Amino acid sequence: MPISCTGLLRLLHLFLLLSSTLAAEDPIISRFQQYLQINTAHPSPNYHQAVDFILSQAKSLSLQSQTIEFAPNKPLILLKWTGKNPTLPSILLNSHTDVVPVEPHKWSHPPFAAAIDSANGNIYARGSQDMKCVGLQYLEAVRNLKRFNFEPLRTIYISFVPDEEIGGHDGAEKFANSEVFDEMNVGIVLDEGLASPDESYRLFYAERCPMWLVIKAAGAPGHGAKLYDNTAMENLLKSIESVRRFRASQFDLVKAGLKAEGEVISVNMVFLKAGTPSPTGYVMNLQPSEAQAGFDIRIPPIADQASLERRIAEEWAPASRNMTFELGQFKQKMSVYDENGRPILTAHDGSNPWWALLEGAIDKSNRRFGRPEIFPASTDARYFRLKGVPAIGFSPMANTPILLHDHNEFLNKEEYLKGIEVYESIIKAFASFAAETEKDEATKDEL
Ligand SMILES: [Zn+2]
Repeated sequence: MPISCTGLLRLLHLFLLLSSTLAAEDPIISRFQQYLQINTAHPSPNYHQAVDFILSQAKSLSLQSQTIEFAPNKPLILLKWTGKNPTLPSILLNSHTDVVPVEPHKWSHPPFAAAIDSANGNIYARGSQDMKCVGLQYLEAVRNLKRFNFEPLRTIYISFVPDEEIGGHDGAEKFANSEVFDEMNVGIVLDEGLASPDESYRLFYAERCPMWLVIKAAGAPGHGAKLYDNTAMENLLKSIESVRRFRASQFDLVKAGLKAEGEVISVNMVFLKAGTPSPTGYVMNLQPSEAQAGFDIRIPPIADQASLERRIAEEWAPASRNMTFELGQFKQKMSVYDENGRPILTAHDGSNPWWALLEGAIDKSNRRFGRPEIFPASTDARYFRLKGVPAIGFSPMANTPILLHDHNEFLNKEEYLKGIEVYESIIKAFASFAAETEKDEATKDEL
């Protein structure tokens, strides 16, 4: 017998009710569901509801809290657990509260219901991977540590920032450049990473820097029937071919397994603009005098940005071929180097004790981790690294398909719970770390 639409809806409702009842048995999971159910998707994230929820959690954990608006209606929450030696550089656990938009009809479960599939324990929701999981895992780890009367030596800050998904300019960027941040004397930041389809966690020490390139070609206009040199279209096509060859050379390195995705320069054409519009389409018997193309480029800090810029000026948009170019990202050019000319990355060798502490803590929780990687896209961690503060990208999600920004984003219940255990181990290791780091030495010099 066919089931009617209302019948289906009723069944769905019953299913949701059942899954939330099941979850209610586990307060940890039910808190995660509550956070996921707050719709903080762009373009109109409900930040205030998220703030209320986080603040109520902070209160239950007796953490000090403050809400700061670096931009109107874009609240950032800063929680504090004061250490026994607050003069030591502190630990910052960062996460963003916003999520990317959804196309609900393409989801198997409603994206803000946080329904649990009872067959396998998967929790479906936008933000389940990116990155409400991490934000609440920090808090759950703190809850457990407090229950066992753990007392941190170093002060622990937990920040919940807005707007990461739209560039972080009114969130982490303003925060990292604020007096509030300076006063926190942060020694290490933990921020987001990516899920890993295999059993090893992924750790990120840097990220690629976005560079948006627009190249423009000019040439004499002419009749569509005429063959002549140096048309705008021909000039642009030569450049596109050159860019395409470069892209293939980089992609081949990844395909051959010689480099990871984050270690090569990616170049992707994102628009192509040319032609003379007519009421019915385009004028067909006219060769246009202008043509342009746009490219999204991502450069790892281990690449030679200056040589890429030379390649752009000499090969991709040479003045000799009547070409010009604009380089930018959010109207300003980004660089893989900081103001002192050093590549923006966090050391992942013996010179950075935090890295060894992190690996040791993961080891202790009986989990594996892979080779340190460069994050292929951008996260808020870059703003902290730019300030010279080490930042490690890590989201404890192994055996999980990468579904950030995708339909049917989910995280398994057991994987979420395991992640809390791992953060307990990390926070314990970081907050108990008594030895002096380079930053500690510098702080002492100032005193
Ligand atoms: Zn994210």
